[in-house]
Amino acid sequence: MLPATNRRHRVVVVGAGFGGIAAARALRNTPVDVVIVDAHNFHTFQPLLYQVATAGLDTDDIASAVRGIFRRQHNVDVVLGRVAAVDIERRTLTITDHPPLAYDTLVLAAGAVSADYGIAGVREHAIGLKSMADALAVRDRVLRSFERAAAQPELVDDGLLTVAIVGGGPTGVELAGGTQELFSRVLRRDFPSLDLRRSRVVLIEAADRLLGPFAPHLGDKALRTLRSRGVEVVLGTGVDRIEGTAGEPPSVAGAVVLSDGRRIPAGTIVWATGVTAAPLAQRLIDADPAVQTTRGGRIVVGPDLTLPGHPEVFVIGDIAASRDDQGHGDLLPQVAQPAIQGGRYAARAIGARLAGTTTEPFRYRDKGSMATIGRNAAVCEFPNGWTLSGRLGWMAWLGLHLIELVGFRNRANVLVNWGWNYFTYDRGARLIAPQEK
Ligand SMILES: Cc1cc2nc3c(=O)[nH]c(=O)nc-3n(C[C@H](O)[C@H](O)[C@H](O)COP(=O)(O)OP(=O)(O)OC[C@H]3O[C@@H](n4cnc5c(N)ncnc54)[C@H](O)[C@@H]3O)c2cc1C
Repeated sequence: MLPATNRRHRVVVVGAGFGGIAAARALRNTPVDVVIVDAHNFHTFQPLLYQVATAGLDTDDIASAVRGIFRRQHNVDVVLGRVAAVDIERRTLTITDHPPLAYDTLVLAAGAVSADYGIAGVREHAIGLKSMADALAVRDRVLRSFERAAAQPELVDDGLLTVAIVGGGPTGVELAGGTQELFSRVLRRDFPSLDLRRSRVVLIEAADRLLGPFAPHLGDKALRTLRSRGVEVVLGTGVDRIEGTAGEPPSVAGAVVLSDGRRIPAGTIVWATGVTAAPLAQRLIDADPAVQTTRGGRIVVGPDLTLPGHPEVFVIGDIAASRDDQGHGDLLPQVAQPAIQGGRYAARAIGARLAGTTTEPFRYRDKGSMATIGRNAAVCEFPNGWTLSGRLGWMAWLGLHLIELVGFRNRANVLVNWGWNYFTYDRGARLIAPQEK
């Protein structure tokens, strides 16, 4: 075990997502040793996962090696491993394939995972869109469906070339728009013998409108744009279950059965609705049954983002049930800015404590929301109520995502790829992962 004595104050950050990276970076000039632990050796820029799923970008365009991010920050060490248990009393983490790790201060930023809400068949027959592995699985499944349809065109009538996406929030809208473009601009040319009029992109949303967190007129705008581009949108209808298909290999992934009894057979089914706290939240409850959670398994924290009774444990980002307004306001949304701002706040609070001073309670600054619908179309909503849509919104969306991407190399790659895709109507990353043994 790494000793916890005779050394500088050690801050262990669990999770190299938006929150963890922000916290570790903000500790650059604080007299502490930082250890950042992640189950992956890379940071994933999740807002662009849908572009990997639709072959617009490749994995390394939207991922950065964690060791590379901190190469020049000498007080940071990186551990590759999954945190399996937290011993709050002994201030120690159990990590797979690594000796136990002691901390003086812990920053938990382990994010969230897809939630199936107990709906039958989701885990078995649908793919989420929460990780790089998910994005690659969606891309693989869609491209294989086209290859299979080229060999057996009769399977198109079974729904092989249908992509059914459940969830009309930003992720579902972006994926639906991107998939429709992949079909109509790229795969149509790759597979001239296939009749793509029989392919379908179906977006299913239980609420009466798309983009619930946005102003209603922006949801309407997204609906009109998607429909005009050929996406079928089903509103106001929930999903009863996802059915699989018998046979090996199955001709289609299965079918989405709606609450009104309709069945949508599909070659690819994507579950793009809702998240629940990362399993590490449960490990924390195992360590201390007094830990409280809210809807979605998020860990309740105080106004200073620490676990009640444990000022040495900060919990930030998607895994935390943090609130605005000194801890009394609404739950903060599970998006990047609360995680980034929470990470920076935790770093400030740690520095202040070591200097013998205190910090104000956490205050969240809303910077607005954006979602793209496809080429030349996006919606943006700013905190002062201003909205943007269409080409102007799209330019704002492109600019912001380029700025937020971690690392110069990623930005340069993405800029080149987007330029290439825009002017050639092509998608260079439409690769099926090799499976030879
Ligand atoms: C498809 C998609 C699109 C999105 N689009 C947007 C958008 O446009 N704008 C926006 O603001 N937000 C968007 N979000 C949400 C945003 O990405 C999240 O809110 C944000 O990533 C949360 O940051 P975080 O640091 O809490 O967790 P994450 O960024 O999820 O990072 C958590 C990290 O913890 C690691 N981890 C988890 N458990 C363990 C463990 N036991 N041991 C070690 N490591 C562990 C994971 O490997 C991961 O690297 C999107 C999310 C998705 C999935």
